[in-house]
Amino acid sequence: MDLGIEGRKAIVCAASEGLGRACAWSLAMNGVDVVITGRTPEKLASAKAEIEQASGRTVVTVAGDITTEAGRAAALAACPEPDILVNNAGGPPPGDFRDWTRDDWIKAIDANMLTPIELIKATVDGMMDRSFGRIVNITSSAVKAPIDVLGLSNGARAGLTGFVAGVARKTVAKNVTINGLLPGPFDTARLRGTTKAVSEKTGRPFEEVFEERKKLNPAQRYGEPFEFGEYCAFLCSAQAGYITGQNLLIDGGNYPGTL
Ligand code: NAP
Repeated sequence: MDLGIEGRKAIVCAASEGLGRACAWSLAMNGVDVVITGRTPEKLASAKAEIEQASGRTVVTVAGDITTEAGRAAALAACPEPDILVNNAGGPPPGDFRDWTRDDWIKAIDANMLTPIELIKATVDGMMDRSFGRIVNITSSAVKAPIDVLGLSNGARAGLTGFVAGVARKTVAKNVTINGLLPGPFDTARLRGTTKAVSEKTGRPFEEVFEERKKLNPAQRYGEPFEFGEYCAFLCSAQAGYITGQNLLIDGGNYPGTL
């Protein structure tokens, strides 16, 4: 399927590995020139080399923390008029709400709510003026079904989702859509990191915990990042202009609801 986005420009935040990188990959494979951000220059350089070689498109890297004003300014300087914006950042740590301070909350809200809102604010009017824009916020299945130990994520991402629900209806008439893409368990460094934490806490071998979590999913496996990237690319396609304000799960059927 031709997604109709060849020659478009995208900013994909937090994209040197994992789900962000997969989104950048799929966009580039569909003809989009991408700016990818991340905090570690070496990881960015290897993502750039791999995506450029596979796609033949230009990949520009911006090293910096996207949750800071300087990090966002650098991303926008590299691509001042993006047609596509994929918002992403690392997820907050797990824990018990009794231990979280105001600073812990501010950090989570900064990363997973205010950073995407700032980037939407900086780009959405230009997109509307140019009559094309696709904004995808990588959030979490926790938006639909809270994950007990991830209270910081449950709270901050719910705030972003509520904000977007309103604004997404204000932009779609100008062919600018804003949607949330909600990952369930995907095999990435983050998932392996949280699995390692459980393994260390319980004293059980990593492989045992990893396999057990996998078996709990109706698909009996973890998602592969490329499956996420391809869904993201479709949401950014010319054909997806009538999809806005949605929160789309991609979780192997893990969410147990009928609707
Ligand atoms: P990942 O594999 O750990 O990759 C995270 C990427 O983001 C890396 O490229 C990392 O590079 C970059 N990054 C992290 N913090 C950043 C920051 N402040 N500024 C710029 N770049 C930053 O994580 P993932 O699994 O792809 O997860 C992506 C998002 O989806 C996270 O918010 C996660 O909580 C959420 N999620 C993931 C899953 C899952 O199963 N994988 C499930 C639900 C939700 P540097 O570290 O070098 O900056």
